[in-house]
Amino acid sequence: MDTGEKPVCRPDAATTINTLKVPVAIDPARKNLTMGGVYLLLVRIDKEQVIRPGSLGDVKISRGYYVYVGSGLNNLEARLARHKRKRKKLHWHIDYLTSIASTVSTFPIRTKNRLECELAEAVAMLSGKSVPGFGSSDCTCSSHLFFFAENPENDESFIDIVFEFRLKDSRTQLTPFQ
Ligand SMILES: [Zn+2]
Repeated sequence: MDTGEKPVCRPDAATTINTLKVPVAIDPARKNLTMGGVYLLLVRIDKEQVIRPGSLGDVKISRGYYVYVGSGLNNLEARLARHKRKRKKLHWHIDYLTSIASTVSTFPIRTKNRLECELAEAVAMLSGKSVPGFGSSDCTCSSHLFFFAENPENDESFIDIVFEFRLKDSRTQLTPFQ
């Protein structure tokens, strides 16, 4: 029998709706995290030579290792794939170095934050020598390219920097990146 009573409003109704919306709201962020980040490039040079990366003029490149700090906040994977290709149109300072490299190793750090200058500062602390103005046309850093006589991969402090920066975004990092 209809008593004429109005249905009881359930206090959790609004919560339920919000909960259902959550996966939709998170999805674009998830995609963004997967795609973007900052990175270190480890470039090995076997023979001393001079490069001319545009406005920088002549830059003497020594035999040894160079670490470059960059960012690919929109498409990290495509950026890293480009750095590993030898044949490409030389556009950025770093292109002039990777085109003469014996090997190029990549250390991606997924993040949606602009950590590259902080990362460059951390690498600068380990390296005794930087290439002034290299890769830092768009920021106030003195350089984003650092020289190492020995392979920094064998230096625990270098590996620690990579892990430290990967952990910086651990709260929002969803999957490991390899
Ligand atoms: Zn910078």
